[in-house]
Amino acid sequence: MLLNDIQTYLLEIHEPAFRLKQLRTAIYTQYATNFTDITTLSLSLREVLQAKFGPINPLKSLHTVTGNQVEKVLFETPSGHLIEAVKLTYLPNAERKTTHTALCVSSQSGCAMGCQFCATGNIGFKQNLSADEITGQYLYFKQKGDPIDSIIFMGMGEPFANENNLFEALHTLTDPDLFALSPSRLSISTVGLLPGIQRLTQEFPQINLTYSLHSPFDKQRSQIMPVNQTYPIEKVFLALNEYIKTTKNRVFIAYTLLKDVNDSPEHAQALAELIKSQRDTAYLYHVNLIRYNPCPSEVIFERAEPAKVKAFQATLDRLGVKNTLRQDFGVEIDAACGQLYASYSQKQSLA
Ligand code: SF4
Repeated sequence: MLLNDIQTYLLEIHEPAFRLKQLRTAIYTQYATNFTDITTLSLSLREVLQAKFGPINPLKSLHTVTGNQVEKVLFETPSGHLIEAVKLTYLPNAERKTTHTALCVSSQSGCAMGCQFCATGNIGFKQNLSADEITGQYLYFKQKGDPIDSIIFMGMGEPFANENNLFEALHTLTDPDLFALSPSRLSISTVGLLPGIQRLTQEFPQINLTYSLHSPFDKQRSQIMPVNQTYPIEKVFLALNEYIKTTKNRVFIAYTLLKDVNDSPEHAQALAELIKSQRDTAYLYHVNLIRYNPCPSEVIFERAEPAKVKAFQATLDRLGVKNTLRQDFGVEIDAACGQLYASYSQKQSLA
């Protein structure tokens, strides 16, 4: 972590202890971009730190695409890998009186999980992000003065597959002396890696949790999401129920509707039954239905028809399962994770 390296260096050059506090405030509260901007330090120290550590944010922004209520940024890590972060602006509606800005961040460049419908899964695994590279996505938007109300780990990568760096990033984001975000403003989305779910339950019970399910049937889920062979649905629900009992939080079930794959009445019925079968915790599950953003180079899956989406939702409503159809944005800018990466890499290789 950058702050630890700075601390070690300040000790080496015999700077007084309060320098670290000044730097901490400048980086994590005032979101300084360069050490040379930190005017509470002497000019010579600023220059020495800038020469030694370079820009404060390890990420370099390569490309930004904006669309309706969406801003998507492609970053390069110091080792030359690409990642994406997406800022989503939710306008006031009947349930919420104010605008809400959520930042969707990546935890890995690429991903090894191989979910068939996912553009990032198609890229394959490239790199685990360090804690500073994870928090650097948030820092980038704060450095340019954007309000960010919540952070969701639903960008590139499976967060719990990069467990130690993820947890270090969560500490940095929530530490009152660092970014000082309330844990309830953070949300982790996982395909069901049990060790990570169990650790989150113990270490960050206030952080929100989403299970990316996408099929209520083990056989089909194992086909489209190979991780299900290691962590089948029933075992994951046992861990989710423990999370609910310990934290009293809701758990969100992400369900992307894929045409003629998982959008049938049988799927809706089975999903409702799966949730109802959790008995005393069932009322704390909430299904987030997602319209699929087709990948540019991917023709296997398509968006479910609007009538099918409506019928799916109606079945959940009738069977008493709480659900929301997620606001749809970003199709025009390839907003699903991994899609900007794929189109950018393609352009680079054609250039
Ligand atoms: S859906 Fe998530 S876990 Fe699956 S391949 Fe894509 S990024 Fe990885």
